[in-house]
Amino acid sequence: MPTPLMSLPGGPAEPVAVPRAVPPRADGRLDLVGLDRAAIARALVESGLVEPRQARMRSGQIWHWIYNRGATDFAAMTDLAKPLREALAERFTVSRPEVVQAWVSADGTRKWLLRSAGEAYEAVFIPDADRGTLCVSSQVGCTLNCRFCHTGTMKLVRNLTAAEIVGQVLLARDALGEWPSAPDGRMLTNIVMMGMGEPLYNFDNVRDALRIVMDGEGLALSKRRITLSTSGVVPMMARAGAEIGVNLAVSLHAVTREVRDEIVPLNRKWGIPELLAACAAYPGANNARRITFEYVMLDGVNDSDADARELVRLIRQYRLPAKVNLIPFNPWPGSPYACSPDERIARFSALIFEGGISAPVRTPRGRDIMAACGQLKSASERLSRAELDRRAAAKEAAW
Ligand code: SAH
Ligand code: SF4
Repeated sequence: MPTPLMSLPGGPAEPVAVPRAVPPRADGRLDLVGLDRAAIARALVESGLVEPRQARMRSGQIWHWIYNRGATDFAAMTDLAKPLREALAERFTVSRPEVVQAWVSADGTRKWLLRSAGEAYEAVFIPDADRGTLCVSSQVGCTLNCRFCHTGTMKLVRNLTAAEIVGQVLLARDALGEWPSAPDGRMLTNIVMMGMGEPLYNFDNVRDALRIVMDGEGLALSKRRITLSTSGVVPMMARAGAEIGVNLAVSLHAVTREVRDEIVPLNRKWGIPELLAACAAYPGANNARRITFEYVMLDGVNDSDADARELVRLIRQYRLPAKVNLIPFNPWPGSPYACSPDERIARFSALIFEGGISAPVRTPRGRDIMAACGQLKSASERLSRAELDRRAAAKEAAW
């Protein structure tokens, strides 16, 4: 089991090193999902089933089956000899997270409650006319306790493994019937690391998972179609740019220290000047690939004309190639804020546009199934383990 992350009293938690090793399965088989090609090749050789000189070729074939064809069964890998397929199945597995429950919103948004290694987490698919976006979780829960975010109220937190992160993409592809991986006409075209958790507090697993997702011979999503959202883990931002290279979104949400300290407590550690300087240095940010600033609209908290003007001033001061994404606050049971009225959001957006910066308002999606931004809090917290098991079993029986 990965080491759980602990919330430290009095401030945001430090990222805790989590063992990189894939947690051993009860049946002793090694899961190939989440390993890079070299690691698969090594595992094949170590198993004694594949000669070192054939390891590259065999791992390439297996990679293709897993990430291009969506195979979960070695028996399907027909370009491998039958005895090898049988031997592989005894030593290895190609896993999926278990689907505990799935929902479909009136607007077509889908949410999955998933479980692996005991804990539950969520993934959300948002279909649009010109794209389909999968919102992927990086952690079970989150240590950061932003005041407006449901996920931040979860007590239990652990990092997801690379297999669990990639697994969300594989599972969505299964559900959408999108195998083999086609270059054009896909439903799942974009990925946002905007589900549960802070991706830069689980850097290695997120990087490894996204590299697999971007691999041209597998899922083959371009880095331009992937966006990583951070609440502002400043020391990791340069590495994210250099080692992952996807689009960056930053949860800014406030333009003064007082307000940001209050609603995004991580600001007490790395303030707005440090955060914006890190954005200015983000590799690959230019006018064609702007940084997105996410800004949740909280009634009477961060939504004044002065806030909008200060936002424009800051973006100019740091010469940021930026756009702003205004997110109407999505309520959750017990949430301490209300969403700004529509006219206020429209005025806020107009002021930013007048400053020459694009500031569309994000349409809330999947609110009816609690799938909208900031509403994710896995039902694992509200349901007992027995109830989770019961629902998973009922789902299986229905198939
Ligand atoms: N932890 C990362 C990734 C989560 S992204 C981050 O914070 O950036 C989810 C986005 O939704 C973030 O911008 C987050 O601040 C925002 N959000 C959280 N709670 C929300 C809520 N209740 N309503 C609207 N947006 C919310
Ligand atoms: Fe964590 Fe992001 Fe929610 Fe803040 S907004 S608590 S960083 S998931």
